[in-house]
Amino acid sequence: MSPHAAASRQTSDETQPLDADVPASQQEASRMGGSEEQSPPSCASLPSFPPHSPSLSSSPLCQHSPPALENLLDLFTPPPVERLDWSMAHDAGVIVECLRADTLDNEISGNKAWKLRLPLARALSEGCGIISCGGGWSNHLHALAAAGTRLGIATHGLVRGHPEAPLTPTLADARANGMQLSFISRAEYKQRDQEDFAARHGDGLWVPEGGGSIDGVAGLAPLAEALVAPLAGSPAPQLVLLACGSGTTLAGVLSTLGERDGLRVVGVPTMNHGDQLYHRVRRLLAESGGSEQQTPEWGLWLGAQAGGFAKAPAWLIDFIQRFEAETGLEIEPVYTAKLFAALAHHLANGLIAPGTRVRVLHTGGLQGRRGYPALNLA
Ligand SMILES: *Cc1c(COP(=O)(O)O)cnc(C)c1O
Repeated sequence: MSPHAAASRQTSDETQPLDADVPASQQEASRMGGSEEQSPPSCASLPSFPPHSPSLSSSPLCQHSPPALENLLDLFTPPPVERLDWSMAHDAGVIVECLRADTLDNEISGNKAWKLRLPLARALSEGCGIISCGGGWSNHLHALAAAGTRLGIATHGLVRGHPEAPLTPTLADARANGMQLSFISRAEYKQRDQEDFAARHGDGLWVPEGGGSIDGVAGLAPLAEALVAPLAGSPAPQLVLLACGSGTTLAGVLSTLGERDGLRVVGVPTMNHGDQLYHRVRRLLAESGGSEQQTPEWGLWLGAQAGGFAKAPAWLIDFIQRFEAETGLEIEPVYTAKLFAALAHHLANGLIAPGTRVRVLHTGGLQGRRGYPALNLA
């Protein structure tokens, strides 16, 4: 990585961002504190907000039609693994493969979709809507709204922000997908971990910010299996890499894979104070019934946050453009670019033994590129 990356390590003035998905244009909004720990989702009450799907409104009991369940099953098929053609990997003699969770669906993208898998199934079977929260560029709300409209589940997003502010493209998509948006103040948003937070704003199954819950951890299981499945004719990967925000995805991968010899799993924190993720991941593992003894060997690569959550210094934009031009793989500044830049740093410095088979999880989130005009996207 460039010297800028080392410099960014010093600017650790930011609190844990969790999963706000806030690009640089609104990065002050990512400075929020608190924990995302939540009580397990409950689905006690039927939604009071108008269901936007005939399958929901047909009866007060909201029996879901078989097509909705089939659609859910169709949606969650393990994504493909592709070998990356990347000169940095070739030069280091390292094989880099990518699990393309960004390809799951045009709109219901990446790890956010998998974290929503169990809440969506529960909402379908219990016939209720889903209520959740996020920032203006939230990959989570974006995926939730799209999944809701596809499956006939009413969705309600509690958004940190002002109703008068122009909608981000992310929120415009969410609204177009039928999500009810309620804007709440920063002070109110800080209460999102309180037990009655969701109930103060609406009804439905509560899904915490970013899908960061025990259900989120459990929903990732099939993705975790796909992450270590060998490509036909090849040995299994030895090093698995993924970008971290709340650490839920890392915890899901670790708890699913259990104890496994010859495999190391590494998370790349994308925010300042990334070392806090050690505790968060351990806590998530404990809460989901596992323990650190029952996981593969794991660790974090610290120092890849490039100035902090959602920050995108010029060198990172440059890295994205060069990486995409060479590999044809699209990435975004908040998570996946920092992941690949960290891998590039390790490759360039001989920190990964030649012959190592690396499997990278592409967690999606490409819709968030729209928050970075420097990437010149339509
Ligand atoms: C949310 C997100 C992450 C981080 O996932 P966590 O489970 O919160 O650690 C990584 N990549 C993308 C694209 C995301 O949207």
